[in-house]
Amino acid sequence: MALELFTIFYFIISAGLIYPPAEFVAVGLTIENLFSKFLGNPLENILQYHLKRSILSLFVYSMLPLVYILMILYLNYVEFSFLFSDTSLIIKCFTTTAIVLPMFAMYQIYNWVSNNYKSHPTVQNLSKFASESENWETLASEINTEYRRITKVSLKINPIVTLVVTDSWVLKICPFVTHIAKLEDTNIQVVESRLFSLAQDYSENQVLKLEVKSRNNKFENFNILLNILAFRELESQLQRRIPISTGITIHRTDAEQFIHEFKKVVNENPKYHPTEESEERCIGCFQALPDVKLKKNCQDVNEAQNCTTCQCRPSWCLQCMGQWFASRQDPEKKSEWMSSKCTCPMCRSIFCVLDVHLLENN
Ligand SMILES: [Zn+2]
Ligand SMILES: [Zn+2]
Ligand SMILES: [Zn+2]
Repeated sequence: MALELFTIFYFIISAGLIYPPAEFVAVGLTIENLFSKFLGNPLENILQYHLKRSILSLFVYSMLPLVYILMILYLNYVEFSFLFSDTSLIIKCFTTTAIVLPMFAMYQIYNWVSNNYKSHPTVQNLSKFASESENWETLASEINTEYRRITKVSLKINPIVTLVVTDSWVLKICPFVTHIAKLEDTNIQVVESRLFSLAQDYSENQVLKLEVKSRNNKFENFNILLNILAFRELESQLQRRIPISTGITIHRTDAEQFIHEFKKVVNENPKYHPTEESEERCIGCFQALPDVKLKKNCQDVNEAQNCTTCQCRPSWCLQCMGQWFASRQDPEKKSEWMSSKCTCPMCRSIFCVLDVHLLENN
């Protein structure tokens, strides 16, 4: 391999380690994966895991130029003297930087680690929430415990930033620092919207900028960029609507648009007079009261798949039934969703949108 080719190859690997694309993640070529023994399991101690990861990342990044030089020496691409004496100023500068960079990194790491991470920016962020008698580790173990629950959400915002929302904390995890907000002290608002293309599917192309603000100046405000799907997931985790600054429109995703239309059609269908008891709560969301019944109402007789009669008692709310219907459709054929069929989530009998009835007493 020629030196130029080797250099390009090394550059690609380095860039991939710093900002791992999906291909690198798939084959496990990430710092987290390569050093998983040292880092441990994030589920055990999410905060300590990312403290260690920040140190490791800084060390690995700072070593990349030096490792490059050592490799071209080892592979005999250049002579030792070429790097220092009989060479251009640019190469001398590069060589010097490559040697000095790890030293700076080691000095920074020493600063972070000494005194039980007291000067690490993440620990400084966390310490702002600690009372007189608490230290940061008490709060960290509270966050770690919440992180282990299944109720948390973890959203990968881009290859190097992750948003975690637990029952009472919001964490924005970046390579060197984790921003921390306590939900009870936090206002979250959509402050900006960016559209990346004029394509039909807004779910992929609209990105929202959210501002996370402290009510009591407990932390420095920070921003999060989310696409609509992640934004909706965040809303459902917070169990409330996130306020939107005036002048910003949030486009519905295709599924949301469909459910909106689905509800309109169902509202036109005849109501069903219940003769049986409903489930206590909707089986889909465990929150709303069941308010729909499937009962054949359409006129199809000679189709490949005729609708059949469902004997299940009312067990679903309209919203969940719409979501179920949408989730069973072919994403490539959006225009056909409304005229398509679906199976009852419980007995698998076939129904169409005309067979969905709201209960009469609702
Ligand atoms: Zn429901
Ligand atoms: Zn059924
Ligand atoms: Zn039907």
